[in-house]
Amino acid sequence: MDSANIQAVEKLLSVPQKIVIIPHKNPDGDAIGSTLALWHYLKNRGQNATIVSPNDYPKFLKWMPGNERILNFEAKNTQALSAIKEATLIFTLDFNHFGRTGQLEPILEAAKAQYIMIDHHQAPSDYAVVTYSDVLMSSTCEMVYNFIEYLGDTDTITSEMANCIYTGIMTDTGSFKFQSTTSRTHQVIADLIDKGAKNTEIHNRIYDTNSPSRLHLLGCALKNMVILDTYQTAYITLSQEELDAYNYKKGDTEGFVNYGLTLEGIRFAVIFIENKEEGIIKISFRSEGDFSVNQFARKHFNGGGHDNASGGRSDVSLEETATYFVSLLENYKDKLNA
Ligand code: 5GP
Ligand code: MN
Repeated sequence: MDSANIQAVEKLLSVPQKIVIIPHKNPDGDAIGSTLALWHYLKNRGQNATIVSPNDYPKFLKWMPGNERILNFEAKNTQALSAIKEATLIFTLDFNHFGRTGQLEPILEAAKAQYIMIDHHQAPSDYAVVTYSDVLMSSTCEMVYNFIEYLGDTDTITSEMANCIYTGIMTDTGSFKFQSTTSRTHQVIADLIDKGAKNTEIHNRIYDTNSPSRLHLLGCALKNMVILDTYQTAYITLSQEELDAYNYKKGDTEGFVNYGLTLEGIRFAVIFIENKEEGIIKISFRSEGDFSVNQFARKHFNGGGHDNASGGRSDVSLEETATYFVSLLENYKDKLNA
């Protein structure tokens, strides 16, 4: 954040505001961790703040301190709507265009509040009076730490906040292994541990809460994996029928897409997941190296994200989506084999 933005934030927070904090739809560890950390920070500054999530999120994220205060827009519609309508200041975290909030999109467009964006995805929209956008950042959680630092308040980071921020950095960096993990990321992490982040406990709460049915669903996904050596690509399909057979719950498929990349020589991994209720195929793309899955998702599947991790969707059947995907690969053969 440059000094003009820091001053603008100082000014906005120097008076009482009605604040709403919003993560993207289907929030992940970074989205929930960052919104909660910011919520604690603002509350401790004496501000009135509410988090509105566009929809529900996995159980393995629901232990974070302050979680019970998050309003799920789908469940607490009236309360969430009035909070947004009355807001004077809205923070949007871990996304950069209203389309990422699903049903909230028209409501955010109509809101009278001023916006502050904190985000690390590509191509930010320009709805905010303060846009803190940096695609080189590991996570929005690392940016929330920076945001607090810019305001000179790192001593006010409580153990609750440290646990939330740690969680988002850990989940968005694949436990500190992605290229976005810098020495600075580790310095932030070290400070968070000093401030009370329980690193081993957080890891267990996020990654070691499998149910037998989720492991069986993983088995099904791995059996369905198609490996295309010519394109150094592996993809997985999961139909609604398969999800139902293994008693699918939100979050159960988290991380499945990464298994493709663990194959030697595979640099592009994809998962296609049928969602009958929404009538779409939800897609996750991952890559290793220079192949930009952000561009690929943007161009062909109405999505986006980061260079090595992105998402998108398709409105045709699971089979048609997979066939279309495979037909695209010939055009990328050189890039994939570079
Ligand atoms: P995931 O595959 O884990 O859902 O998402 C990977 C990354 O891509 C995340 O940073 C997420 O925010 C982004 N992403 C996922 N789905 C979409 C989408 O439909 N549109 C855009 N623009 N980004 C997405
Ligand atoms: Mn993120």
